Amino acid sequence: MEEVSILHCPICREGSDYRGLHLHLKGGHPDMVTIATDVPRRYFEVRCPLCPESYRQTLKTGKATIEFVEEFEDDIRLVASDILLQHLIGEHAERIGIPADR
Ligand SMILES: [Zn+2]
Ligand SMILES: [Zn+2]
Repeated sequence: MEEVSILHCPICREGSDYRGLHLHLKGGHPDMVTIATDVPRRYFEVRCPLCPESYRQTLKTGKATIEFVEEFEDDIRLVASDILLQHLIGEHAERIGIPADR
């Protein structure tokens, strides 16, 4: 039996596979990720849409210039979306369509 796991976006319920949802969260809901560049220690923060949890990570570079952040914003958003998706799977599995017991 073929097992196709379709995950659903917790915000708009769009269904997709893991990779599709990863890209959907990144491109469809960019407001969940904050990239702070106007502070001494630049960071990005990703917020869970279902609970108050958020995850913040300092950008690993001594000189994260504005140019650097713009160039790598796409990568940052990809990483942030992955963190969020892992959190959703770990903490809110049922809300994204993963059966509770299996
Ligand atoms: Zn969505
Ligand atoms: Zn959460």
